Amino acid sequence: MRRAVVIGAGLGGVLAAAALSRAVDQVVVLDRDELPDGPEHRKGVPQGRHAHLLMPGGLAAMEDLLPAADLRKHLLAAGAHEISLSTGMLVLTPEGFFRRWRHERHHMITCSRALLDWVVRKAVLDHTSGIEIRQGQALGLTGSAARVDGVRVRTASGGTELSADIVVDASGRGSRVVSWLTGLGITGVEERNVDSGLVNATRIYRTPPGAERFPLTVVQANPYVSRPGRSAVIVPIEGNRWMVSLAGSRGGEPPAEPEGFLKYTLDLPHPIVGRLISGAEPLTGVSVSRSTSNSRRYLEKARRWPDGLVVLGDALATFNPAYGQGMSVAALGALALSREVRRTELAAPGLARTVQRAAARHVEAAWSLAVGQDVLFPDVRGATATFADRLAAGYSRRVTRA
Ligand SMILES: Cc1cc2nc3c(=O)[nH]c(=O)nc-3n(C[C@H](O)[C@H](O)[C@H](O)COP(=O)(O)OP(=O)(O)OC[C@H]3O[C@@H](n4cnc5c(N)ncnc54)[C@H](O)[C@@H]3O)c2cc1C
Repeated sequence: MRRAVVIGAGLGGVLAAAALSRAVDQVVVLDRDELPDGPEHRKGVPQGRHAHLLMPGGLAAMEDLLPAADLRKHLLAAGAHEISLSTGMLVLTPEGFFRRWRHERHHMITCSRALLDWVVRKAVLDHTSGIEIRQGQALGLTGSAARVDGVRVRTASGGTELSADIVVDASGRGSRVVSWLTGLGITGVEERNVDSGLVNATRIYRTPPGAERFPLTVVQANPYVSRPGRSAVIVPIEGNRWMVSLAGSRGGEPPAEPEGFLKYTLDLPHPIVGRLISGAEPLTGVSVSRSTSNSRRYLEKARRWPDGLVVLGDALATFNPAYGQGMSVAALGALALSREVRRTELAAPGLARTVQRAAARHVEAAWSLAVGQDVLFPDVRGATATFADRLAAGYSRRVTRA
């Protein structure tokens, strides 16, 4: 019996499981959390309390992975919103308000992360076979530097080893894969961290009566004035609610208390977000996240790479969430895995490395965008703006203006 083990049942993990389901007889997806049977927040995905925009490329990748599931339809039926990038948003950029066009071509999905995870997980389980989600914490890998052949797991009943023909690490930004690789004798993995010190503060409000069709509203941070970035977004989510997320880079952090929340929005270069929420009923307190740095493991460049191991999603790279890319990159990584296991026999030497390189291409695109902007803010750790960054920023301003 051929078995795959996926570490982590977040978005990246369940999509990787879908990618592998046709290539093996059984896919065991391990998660430290007991997964809720509904759209509920959980401890293992703390970022779920903050606004999550699913970009068109991410949704398209998920639909490619699950062609029979009609994900878009299920998300909308569950209360998610479909927002046109050209007509459905009110965006204040450093160059002024974006013009809203008449043509609707690309759409993103907005809803709570809990709803998104639940709908996607259900679609994966309903439209594939052989996937089993088990509660357990991965503690390490078994095998050698040449081939990974299983996972060491801690469960409620004790420690055990799960053998596998392929292991996917999708355990998120806290992944211990680099030290696990060291344990197998693979050292010297290059890592990079570029940190603008961004803090996210999020609060949910009831959508004010009459504002149900108001566009998604964003006041963007301005990276061109050598001051800390400060921004705010109102994202419509299911249940007739607005998720309001504030973000400030080092020196411009939003407050963690309800008292200062509204003031922060009113003090932005335009008070539109503050005016919209000033009469709205808050439904929660303020949640704060500091897990926002761009951080990357260049696994595709490792001198040796074991067969049987693939690392995807946040375990491979994370991005400043302001650019809304992480889930899409995780989905594109899973799609790369799916394409490779369809093309090549699972046991073929080099398959894992090929997937790792394909996933890295998606990471690179998102990384350049996020880091290229982040380096322009003051006090960024891990990088300074180069001449090329400034040139690219100048060009992107001209494009925005045009
Ligand atoms: C504040 C914030 C806002 C964001 N907004 C956006 C956005 O608008 N758009 C976007 O595309 N992305 C956004 N992101 C990024 C997005 O959250 C991640 O890219 C995405 O969750 C990655 O999915 P993943 O499956 O790789 O990891 P996760 O979703 O983090 O899942 C990891 C899973 O692994 C489990 N786990 C961890 N360790 C172990 C272990 N040892 N054994 C077993 N299980 C384990 C955890 O319980 C969890 O279920 C945001 C991130 C933050 C922090």
